[in-house]
Amino acid sequence: MPLNILIVGAGIAGPAFASLLQRSSVTSAHHVTIIERSPVLRASGQQIDFKAQCIPILEKMNLLKAMREKTVAETGLEVVDGNDKVVAKFGINPADRNGFALTSEYEIMRGDMVRVFYEDSLAQRAKVEHEEKQSAKGSLTYEFNKSIEALHHSANSAEVTFSDGQKKEYDLVIGADGASSRTRRLAFGRDIGNAAFKSLGIHTCYFDMPRIPSEGGMARIRFVPASFFVTRTSGRPVTGALVFTKKDAEVLRASYGKPIEEQKKTWMGIMEINDWQKERFVEGLKNSVDFYAHEQGQVKIDELYKGRVALLGDSGYCPAPFTGLGTTCSLIGCYILAGELARHGDDVDTALKNYQKLVKPPIEELQHLPYLPFPSSRVGMWVVTNIAKWIYKLGIDKMLPAKDTEGGTKWALPEYPELKWHKE
Ligand SMILES: Cc1cc2nc3c(=O)[nH]c(=O)nc-3n(C[C@H](O)[C@H](O)[C@H](O)COP(=O)(O)OP(=O)(O)OC[C@H]3O[C@@H](n4cnc5c(N)ncnc54)[C@H](O)[C@@H]3O)c2cc1C
Repeated sequence: MPLNILIVGAGIAGPAFASLLQRSSVTSAHHVTIIERSPVLRASGQQIDFKAQCIPILEKMNLLKAMREKTVAETGLEVVDGNDKVVAKFGINPADRNGFALTSEYEIMRGDMVRVFYEDSLAQRAKVEHEEKQSAKGSLTYEFNKSIEALHHSANSAEVTFSDGQKKEYDLVIGADGASSRTRRLAFGRDIGNAAFKSLGIHTCYFDMPRIPSEGGMARIRFVPASFFVTRTSGRPVTGALVFTKKDAEVLRASYGKPIEEQKKTWMGIMEINDWQKERFVEGLKNSVDFYAHEQGQVKIDELYKGRVALLGDSGYCPAPFTGLGTTCSLIGCYILAGELARHGDDVDTALKNYQKLVKPPIEELQHLPYLPFPSSRVGMWVVTNIAKWIYKLGIDKMLPAKDTEGGTKWALPEYPELKWHKE
């Protein structure tokens, strides 16, 4: 029996899942609505990468080529000192190896990835309707400027109240609304929903600033006490600035609910500790129109669903943007949930039970955190910079062994013959 499905959030996971639902005759018969809080597709953000099982999934979806065409022209990472002198240089990390660069083999601007999944979901829907002509069942609808306000569980459904006051009953609600998911809080209760976000005590801000002629294709990083400052041109006419800090964590946390200009003022305090291109960062922050800041954290929650509400992507298992694995975790989740729904027809309970069982092992592995270099003193910062220098000088980065399996997870992707993969 076709289901009424609501997906909350049109970031990466929402549209990717909607696209995957169109790949089987069972799930393409469902009526799918995606709501997005933002008035338009929220295609902002800096570079994100995809690794591990994300690559075979994109290949199956026939999207690897489209993603590859959008990868950014970043050639590695330079570690600099306060005088702009390069002390170490690392090339791109291949997908099957660990490395010291921020750049992985598949690196793409977040907005490009959001658009690829969004457009593909609509293209797949159009294909279903074209193939099935008059008999096409199901639907896929995006509604922007709409959010979820309340949620009530009943035996086999969930009643949702929207920001416009409208109420509607769904057979399945998917929370794909990011690490600070409201759906999670509404479904599991405020305490469990909030406690699922495990702060790393690190705050990050991102903004674009004018590019300078001396900047090439390498990202650059400068370690200062309890913070580091990064520039990435990503092959664009502007430069992305990224600041990571453990300083003033409480003050920064308190600033997030405030208007952007006030948040920027709080971040000006962090700019003070920078001894590299300080004026450029200060001016860039002041004049930026795309400033975005958040607290780095992981989402860990025992159950990924309650009744007919399930968490997908960052809302259920954000690995922290730091790891560069947010997209990979999300896409693994989308693939398994779509596969299980296709396999079990309208037995949603079994599909959700299997989704949770299958997605937990790879996610736990991918949530393993790397060492985070945040020396709090000048001496510590000098040590980190010099370790990078000697790793580079002695070529230790080139001696790293290949990972056991691509991307470092030993887990094998389940196969779903129920899903159709069209080759162009
Ligand atoms: C603006 C933005 C910039 C980002 N920049 C980076 C970056 O530079 N580097 C990086 O590694 N990761 C970044 N991320 C996170 C990254 O996109 C995710 O880690 C990952 O791709 C998983 O995607 P997701 O769909 O689960 O979550 P997200 O990509 O966060 O998408 C969640 C979506 O849900 C929407 N939403 C939230 N609440 C509601 C609500 N109540 N009702 C309806 N819609 C709602 C949001 O507007 C967003 O479109 C960013 C996320 C956002 C939203």
